[in-house]
Amino acid sequence: MEACPEPAPRVPPRGAAHYAVRMTNPPSALPSRAGAGLRIGVLALQGDFREHLHAVEAAGATGVGVRRPAELQGLDGLIIPGGESTTIDKLSRTFGLRDPLRERIRAGLPVYGSCAGMILLADEIADPATDLSGAPQQTFGGLDITVRRNAFGRQRESFETDLDFKDLEFSATGQGVAPVHAVFIRGPWVERVGAGVEVLAQVEPSRASHPEALAGTARIVAVRSGRLLATSFHPEVTGEKRVHELFIRMIKGEA
Ligand code: GLN
Repeated sequence: MEACPEPAPRVPPRGAAHYAVRMTNPPSALPSRAGAGLRIGVLALQGDFREHLHAVEAAGATGVGVRRPAELQGLDGLIIPGGESTTIDKLSRTFGLRDPLRERIRAGLPVYGSCAGMILLADEIADPATDLSGAPQQTFGGLDITVRRNAFGRQRESFETDLDFKDLEFSATGQGVAPVHAVFIRGPWVERVGAGVEVLAQVEPSRASHPEALAGTARIVAVRSGRLLATSFHPEVTGEKRVHELFIRMIKGEA
């Protein structure tokens, strides 16, 4: 039981210069306007929804904070942010959003979930939290995966690493596709993927800060299936724009 969940941590966004010195092959400095003309909702019940709104607006889309069922109307896509999946689950019921949202996901709304958002998109949680009556936390579901929460360890085991990430060919330069710099903050990993789920990125034990947590196994941290995309990490806090751009391309049927 999680009697007292830790609040979602805020990692201050770092400027592009910070990553430019770390990335041998930084993505194009030209801002992408790939999202122009799209309305992208960000579930704004709890967590780092502001950072996602900023990311979609930076890509030229109109960002819409979603707290009420009516705000689901007219969206081209939706982002479920990082935060605390048990809290977002509970608030979604309080706000009457849970059932309409589940219906929209099943009807084909493109959705991207980061961290807690990945947990909420998963059909199954290996180790769900339980409430005071012993009932396990619920997800919105839609993605045929099983996730394990807090899999890499607790808050103090948060880490950053570079990932090879598929489907980012649109960002290739003469030297190929730059790795994605990923920040993990009590993130889940994916323990099972169903048929039709594509693995986009994994953390190798040699690249994790606490390799013992991975038990010698590369762990899946990014997947896509149909119009759903999920990452265990938080591109919205690092200035990494390409995961949002991939989502925008999925919305437009270009990826
Ligand atoms: N561990 C959190 C959860 O279970 C997710 C953490 C995050 O989103 N940074 O919801």
